[in-house]
Amino acid sequence: MGYATLLFVCAACRARAQANPLLVMSIPARWTGTEYVADADGKREPVCEGCARALLARFKREGLPIPIVAGHPDYFARAYHESAETQDL
Ligand SMILES: [Zn+2]
Repeated sequence: MGYATLLFVCAACRARAQANPLLVMSIPARWTGTEYVADADGKREPVCEGCARALLARFKREGLPIPIVAGHPDYFARAYHESAETQDL
C-alpha cells in the first residue's frame, strides 16, 4: 500500500504547501502566467492550511455553506498533516 501527498503552490498566497489530495481545500482560480487569481469560472486549485483556515473563518462569518468534510473537528489535521492511502485515490 502506498501513500500520496499533494505538493503544490497555494493558489491564494503562493506559499509552497503539502496536503492530502483527497481533502485539500480548493478555490476556483485561474493562472495568469505569473500567479493564480480567484476566478469563479476557473478550475479548482488547492490552497494552503493558513488560507484554508482564513477561508473557513470567512465562510462562517458570512454564513456561507461550509463543505461537510471541512466542518469536521479533525479536518485540518487530516487534510494538511496526513497523506492519502493510494487505495483511496
Ligand atoms: Zn495560502
